[in-house]
Amino acid sequence: MNQPSQNPADSAFVKIENVTKTFAGIPAVKNVSIDIAKGELFALLGGSGCGKTTLLRMLAGFEIPTAGRILIDGKDMTGVPPYERPVNMMFQSYALFPHMTVEKNIAYGLKHDRMTDAQRKDRVKQMLDLVQLSELGHRKPHQLSGGQRQRVALARSLAKHPKVLLLDEPLGALDKKLREHTQFEIANIQDKTGITFVVVTHDQEEAMTLATRIAVMDRGEVRQIGSATEVYEYPNCAFVAGFIGSANMLDGVVRSVNGTTSVEVPGLGTTVEARETTHLAAGQSIKVAVRPEKIHITREPPPPGINAMEGTVDDLAYFGKDSLYRIRLATGTVLQVNNVNARRAAESERVAQWEDRVWLSFEPSSVILLKD
Ligand code: ATP
Repeated sequence: MNQPSQNPADSAFVKIENVTKTFAGIPAVKNVSIDIAKGELFALLGGSGCGKTTLLRMLAGFEIPTAGRILIDGKDMTGVPPYERPVNMMFQSYALFPHMTVEKNIAYGLKHDRMTDAQRKDRVKQMLDLVQLSELGHRKPHQLSGGQRQRVALARSLAKHPKVLLLDEPLGALDKKLREHTQFEIANIQDKTGITFVVVTHDQEEAMTLATRIAVMDRGEVRQIGSATEVYEYPNCAFVAGFIGSANMLDGVVRSVNGTTSVEVPGLGTTVEARETTHLAAGQSIKVAVRPEKIHITREPPPPGINAMEGTVDDLAYFGKDSLYRIRLATGTVLQVNNVNARRAAESERVAQWEDRVWLSFEPSSVILLKD
């Protein structure tokens, strides 16, 4: 699968420059700049109404930016209508024609292209092979499963060999299991074709599985752009830390910065050591975030040199592969802790039960410090 592009700005294939879109004076997209490299599978991720679809529609030419501009393959798209752009869009509804066979649905996208019948047939065959539906070309959409319909829509939108494929919630109509499987398929197809994909999704797991890089959006703005690892392990703000995965988030005040950062966290009733030191000064108010899976839960006190605190099991949920604990500290703060059930064990053998006194600990390197 693809690796994140290192220097997209140097070779931006899709360049979104200070783009703003307002509807009746209300901004839906605010001064967004994104550089997407050729061959990337880029995700626009955010909650409902954050402006991701509007941004995608501006790439397609269905909406015109109120300010800023979009360049694709070095060409300014201002004033270029949708049908003249080197892009294609796959809609969430797939928009397949019910009365047409799979083959005809795929060929439909090519009808305006100057191609001989043989060339068109050949392209349809290539596309069917690509999405592994060669056997089903004569079926109609209602004779296909949801996942197969999704692949027909993908084949149709790729048939024209667009330079950029825009996908609006491409897996939204599929159930969870099929979605997981199809995520890998889309990523493989993207990899094989080398076409630049821009995917809109509200599903963070989907973005993380699919994308080389993710732009996390909030209320019309891009809050962070990075690989899945970057946005999860190194979020740049409290919004991203809370939106991608879950995080225990607490207020703190920097006490000293000396090799590590000491942060007094009243909610934890202790001073926490963090490995991060950049741009921090004593006296500064910050947010401290720790992911639930980075916290260890033990019955015995942990060794020194690690952040530790004692608490009581308030709640626990067993999910099979892991368990989620809610641990109440003496301060009243409840921390979420995720514990992988690495060993097969009976209920009575688990690390902790309701009301048990336990120790929580986490490494200084696991502490995320956030300024807003
Ligand atoms: P969702 O996941 O719910 O589709 P989104 O992130 O894709 O959300 P957009 O569809 O881009 O969000 O909408 C962003 C904002 O712009 C919303 O507040 C929406 O109501 C508004 N908006 C979008 N299209 C129009 C329009 N044609 N006219 C007026 N307002 C619009």
